[in-house]
Amino acid sequence: MSVDTVSLTGWGRTAPTTALRFRPRSHEEAAATVRGCGPRGSIARGLGRSHGDAAQNAGGSVLDMTALDRIRTIDAGAGVVVCDAGVSLHRLLEVLLPLGWFLPVAPGSRYITVGGAIGSDVHGDNHRAAGTFSRHVTEFELLTADGGIRTVRPGTPLFDATAGGMGLTGVILSTTLRLHPVATSLMSVDTERALDLDDLMTRLAAGSRRATYASAWVDLTARGRSTGRGVLTRGEHAPLYALPAHARRTPLAFRTAPPPAAHLPVPDLLPGGLLGRMSATAFNELRYRRAPRSRTGELQRISAFLHPMDGLPHRNRMPARGGFVHYEFTVGDRRAETLRRIVGQLSQRRVPSFTAVLKRFGRSDPGWLSFPEPGWGLALDLPAGLPGLGRFLDRLDEEVAAAGGRVCLTNDSRLRPDALAAMYPRLAEFRELRAESDPNGAFRSDLSRRLSL
Ligand SMILES: Cc1cc2nc3c(=O)[nH]c(=O)nc-3n(C[C@H](O)[C@H](O)[C@H](O)COP(=O)(O)OP(=O)(O)OC[C@H]3O[C@@H](n4cnc5c(N)ncnc54)[C@H](O)[C@@H]3O)c2cc1C
Repeated sequence: MSVDTVSLTGWGRTAPTTALRFRPRSHEEAAATVRGCGPRGSIARGLGRSHGDAAQNAGGSVLDMTALDRIRTIDAGAGVVVCDAGVSLHRLLEVLLPLGWFLPVAPGSRYITVGGAIGSDVHGDNHRAAGTFSRHVTEFELLTADGGIRTVRPGTPLFDATAGGMGLTGVILSTTLRLHPVATSLMSVDTERALDLDDLMTRLAAGSRRATYASAWVDLTARGRSTGRGVLTRGEHAPLYALPAHARRTPLAFRTAPPPAAHLPVPDLLPGGLLGRMSATAFNELRYRRAPRSRTGELQRISAFLHPMDGLPHRNRMPARGGFVHYEFTVGDRRAETLRRIVGQLSQRRVPSFTAVLKRFGRSDPGWLSFPEPGWGLALDLPAGLPGLGRFLDRLDEEVAAAGGRVCLTNDSRLRPDALAAMYPRLAEFRELRAESDPNGAFRSDLSRRLSL
């Protein structure tokens, strides 16, 4: 097992902290690390795609799980895979798609691990149809604070605390996952432009009833009558007959898309500066105008439709110096007014965000700290150095909490602990389970200390 001392951040590159990083190659090595972790505790880390500080542990241990990356068995008849927690969704797709199976839930990046997908209970653009990732997990092996390994199944408190539990109930070592059958590796995609936020919300609500996958990009730099305008995309896995003859020869080939934005250079945002605002506004204008007013049935690779950010060169994904704050919240259908007000405020401030995504969420998931709630979800990236950003987002948190909504923990880097209990009604149960199963605090992270999880 390799061990080194490293400075770690989340994907947003804010708040680096130093930890002892262990890279276990077996369950025994992982167990030994947890048993010997010392007073600052330990936390599992996958591919570090959470935007905030969930997979960091200042002065403690971090278990990099990426060496435990075996796909153990595939039942190609029933569509069930058993794999180590460190295997990435990208690797699963490489192996499973040619067999006619797809992930039941695919978040916006496929460069995440299965352990991270359960630890954050991730959602995709098909949440209304499929719920979160953990809904499709039939069991996992969990390394707990006493160094023992438990098999955990749905319907138990330990399962519901671990799904979305941000690695704080233990280290997931392996899992059994039910898959979704597909006939091709392409998506049939419809695109529509919306004139303003109301138009976008109406189209997205209708779109997500009609299609399995739906989400919308919101132009947060547009103002006046265009406030909240955007582009809606919805998609289905394409049936075989929809493919042109040449593509029917290898309908299940998994191809990643070339970088999609070669013709759309992402602006180099200076935190909060005029240039940042101007370039984000110009970029968004270009993006909006280039989108078709209405187009149906376009065939796109899965990677282009579901993971467009993965195709961008790293420099473009992380342009702002000082890193990004990823702000993601949900509010219920009856509180759509809160969403309108927040979009209005963001647009009024002309925040230089070019990645804002609006989604519809379906029924709640069993995870005690799972994020989606029935209604609306909005996610956006903001340069961390934007003047007054902390105070501005604190005020948005208050609005979200007052509307019964919540901020997403896996992408959070700045929420205050007092806001948390109102957002996550099962927080007390989570803390109780942690106190009982991990009295000495074997599992801790920068997130858990910041939010007293
Ligand atoms: C471009 C982009 C798009 C994204 N889109 C979405 C989206 O659409 N929907 C969504 O829900 N999320 C989305 N995310 C967030 C991302 O899917 C989650 O943060 C995910 O958990 C990252 O997985 P990871 O393997 O990188 O885990 P890390 O970031 O390393 O860790 C995340 C959390 O999982 C825990 N964890 C990791 N491995 C284990 C394990 N083996 N056992 C127990 N706990 C573990 C960690 O302790 C930590 O709390 C996106 C991120 C990016 C960068």
